Amino acid sequence: MTVKLNLYIDRLKEEKVEPINEALPASVLELEEAELQFSGKINIEGRTYLTEDFLVIDLNVNVDAHLPCAICNETLKIPIIVKKEQLTVEQESIKGAIYNYFPKVREAILLEVPSFVECEGNCPNRSEIKNYLSEDTREKKSTKDVNFPFANLNES
Ligand SMILES: [Zn+2]
Repeated sequence: MTVKLNLYIDRLKEEKVEPINEALPASVLELEEAELQFSGKINIEGRTYLTEDFLVIDLNVNVDAHLPCAICNETLKIPIIVKKEQLTVEQESIKGAIYNYFPKVREAILLEVPSFVECEGNCPNRSEIKNYLSEDTREKKSTKDVNFPFANLNES
């Protein structure tokens, strides 16, 4: 499926500022990885207008993503919110006076996806793996000790 969110330069020349209000099914993102899925609607709102040389698009986008908790692996629903994203496109680079901004929406959404999520910021299952975590902490501490002599440089 090739989704297009087209803006027509000629129309914008007459209308000055055109509001954007779109809702697309999340499936148009064509992203169905085991560790990252989207559901519901992609809501897109904003406005677009021309300056002398540029097409300007102001966007707010939201959609729900589903990612596994990094601790217990349970799938979590995370709202992805793109706020006040501004795109500027040189008018000269727009072929046929039609600009499809869907690829930019997709990119903006993917950039907002967190690389690490955890149940409500503190997974209840975290205590079960506490032993592993404290082992990690010990390892980090001993690494710090190795580097400690460098601290003397600051003291002199
Ligand atoms: Zn969890």
